[in-house]
Amino acid sequence: MRYISTRGQAPVRDFAGVLLAGLAEDGGLYVPETWPLWSRADWRALRGLPYAELAFRVLQPFVGTAIPSTTLQKLCHETYAGFGHPAVVPLVQLDTSIWAQELFHGPTLAFKDLALQLIGRLFDHVLTARGERVTIIGATSGDTGSAAIEACAGRACVDIVILHPAGRTSEVQRRQMTTVTAANVSNLAVDGTFDDCQDLVKAMFADVAFRAEMRLSAVNSINWARIAAQIPYYVAGALALGGPESEIAFAVPTGNFGNVLAAWCARRMGLPIARLTAAANRNDIIARFLAGNDMSVRPVEPSLSPSMDIQVSSNFERLLFELADRDPAVTRHAMEAFRATGKMPVSDVAWKRATAVLHGFSLDDAGTTAEIRRLHSQCGYLADPHTAIGIAAARTLACHHGVPTIAMATAHPAKFPDAIEQAVGIRPPLPPRLADLYERPERFTRVPRDLAAIEASVRATVLRNAA
Ligand SMILES: *Cc1c(COP(=O)(O)O)cnc(C)c1O
Repeated sequence: MRYISTRGQAPVRDFAGVLLAGLAEDGGLYVPETWPLWSRADWRALRGLPYAELAFRVLQPFVGTAIPSTTLQKLCHETYAGFGHPAVVPLVQLDTSIWAQELFHGPTLAFKDLALQLIGRLFDHVLTARGERVTIIGATSGDTGSAAIEACAGRACVDIVILHPAGRTSEVQRRQMTTVTAANVSNLAVDGTFDDCQDLVKAMFADVAFRAEMRLSAVNSINWARIAAQIPYYVAGALALGGPESEIAFAVPTGNFGNVLAAWCARRMGLPIARLTAAANRNDIIARFLAGNDMSVRPVEPSLSPSMDIQVSSNFERLLFELADRDPAVTRHAMEAFRATGKMPVSDVAWKRATAVLHGFSLDDAGTTAEIRRLHSQCGYLADPHTAIGIAAARTLACHHGVPTIAMATAHPAKFPDAIEQAVGIRPPLPPRLADLYERPERFTRVPRDLAAIEASVRATVLRNAA
């Protein structure tokens, strides 16, 4: 399988190449040159497989010959053996036609583990084969850092350095990062805000000499491998509820548009998906686009679902490319205009194509709290704020279409104890395998908001581990 850039001016690469490259050189995102198209018999053949085996078979055509099949299979099995539920992505029925698919049984209790746990292993495999090492750098406001750290901890060919704003993450979030004591993990607590951390990371990437010396890399959500690794759970959910013979709908809590894009990819491969709903909090750019072709940036507002506090959904570019009949010039022009003016020009034809499949939905904090309360009292289910928005979206969708609807449960309620307590008066406990999180020793380095000091700290970590 070969991959091309949505902007048409970057080298064509194989799966291993796009895994390591992340963003394409022309600023575009990598997409498969052609989509695998599966028949009903192909989907049926996956029914009843353990999740790890299903994931391997769904990913195989995307990986192609870049990684030997037996290796990919072994890595998938290792990855999902580390999850805290035998079904890996279990379905919980909430209502006659609504299910939650729990994607939070990984090590950091959020859906990003499903892709990142595999990606850490894929990085290690590809780098070992090439005799290379990289340093993954990232900034986090709390949530995504821990999933990246858990994905890279203990990997032979990777160092990871994550910057977080000192004293400005929740205790659960900080401890999920700082209690990982593998030698290749470095947590830097920066005297500053999340934006300062992000600026410092950007400055390190912009420092060409430093970037080359440290072989800087990233595992952010524009990496194609992350999208690919999110396709299998849509397949598992659809097959469990009668697919491919009957249709299914999904409601997906949405920020960077990665998770819902993976569902779109499953549909593009021929999985019978009737409807997809992109569910947002009050940062509703995608919902406004789907409602009336208004893709215009507004200031980001903080909400109870911080992982969705996003106004520029970077993975949307991949959908745009498909809506524009895969025309890289149209995509490039739309993205450049979006960057320059804050408003994305999308043709009426492309918008209609999007709305034939995708619905938008948005819910403010009061609505989210009310939904958490309703789910608790009526279904006995504790949903985190992101998940609650997805379930609320599924309810509106299920009413209209009468097909079974699966809402993606993207975080464990114990990750957002304050929001849950505020809604229902209960502080959800951590699952047993994390119950001692508050007793585990922490390790982090306090650093000033200063590029030279931080680069020195990164260099010290990398040199120590290379020795
Ligand atoms: C990252 C995240 C999301 C948003 O997913 P995207 O792929 O960015 O759309 C939703 N919920 C939770 C809990 C997350 O961590």
